[in-house]
Amino acid sequence: MQEDFKREVAQMAGEQGIMVDPCSMFDCQVKRIHEYKRQHLNVLHIITLYNRIKADPDMDMTPHSFIFGGKAAPGYFMAKLIIKLTNSVADVVNNDPDMNHRLKIFFLSDYNVKTGHIVYPMTDLSEQISLAGKEASGTGNMKFSMNGALTIGTLDGANIEILEEVGEENFFLFGLTVEEVMDLKAVGYDPMSYYLNNGELRQALDSISSGLFSNGDRELFRPLVDSLLHHDEYMLLADYESYIQCQDRVSRAYMDRDRNRMSILHVARIGKFSSDRSIGEYCDRIWNVKSQPVKLKWARVPDEGLVFRRSK
Ligand SMILES: *Cc1c(COP(=O)(O)O)cnc(C)c1O
Repeated sequence: MQEDFKREVAQMAGEQGIMVDPCSMFDCQVKRIHEYKRQHLNVLHIITLYNRIKADPDMDMTPHSFIFGGKAAPGYFMAKLIIKLTNSVADVVNNDPDMNHRLKIFFLSDYNVKTGHIVYPMTDLSEQISLAGKEASGTGNMKFSMNGALTIGTLDGANIEILEEVGEENFFLFGLTVEEVMDLKAVGYDPMSYYLNNGELRQALDSISSGLFSNGDRELFRPLVDSLLHHDEYMLLADYESYIQCQDRVSRAYMDRDRNRMSILHVARIGKFSSDRSIGEYCDRIWNVKSQPVKLKWARVPDEGLVFRRSK
């Protein structure tokens, strides 16, 4: 079943000239593009893998396909620049023969509920990497878990409840906690110190600044890199090392059978996030209404096939 969805997306990528292997690990981040959701932290990880392979072309690595999807608000310049960066990195990485099918990037255009039906069940790894304290809940995280994807995530929004349900040993947790974020901001957060102290991070940011992903244009991504080095409101640089180490753990787990066990446990333990439970609680605790049985019957609807319809 999952393989069918993977093949469907691989075909969509193929139509754009990107050869995605359905047997590779599908690492997906689909959601509105926003700095707090940190799609660019994901991109920094991809650039890090790219740099590692360039330095050691024979290295052993789980083949990864990174799938992105999501829209930017029309006036949100930085979000659009993040999309541009993702596609620019994709152009270089996807066409570099040294990658030898170990690394592919595909930005799914026009991500919506319809394509969501393909993305959630096909995913091996769900990216829920917002800065702790920023995501009210998130619902994509639940959809992925229900469909058996593993999660890499921070202690933010409903990730916390998912972790409680599936167990710490089945959740790839990284990053600062809300308290640590507040403490660090209180004493004066200095992103530059992380840049200076982590070689892989420095190399990743420098490769963007150098124009490697923009045909030598050193200005295109300057607003993004400058924002990270001098303000970094969403603390990507502080969480980078922990994120990369966690991604390395994911890769190792994916190579052995752990992942099947984890995936099954996710599906088995995620029942709490059923909309029936949630709406039931609203009825009891907030709306004070009783449930009404509704008779449903199968109906054949043009273009939708066989679906449940309320009977008249
Ligand atoms: C679930 C869903 C979202 C919300 O995703 P988050 O990861 O919770 O931000 C956004 N867009 C579509 C199409 C969805 O299906």
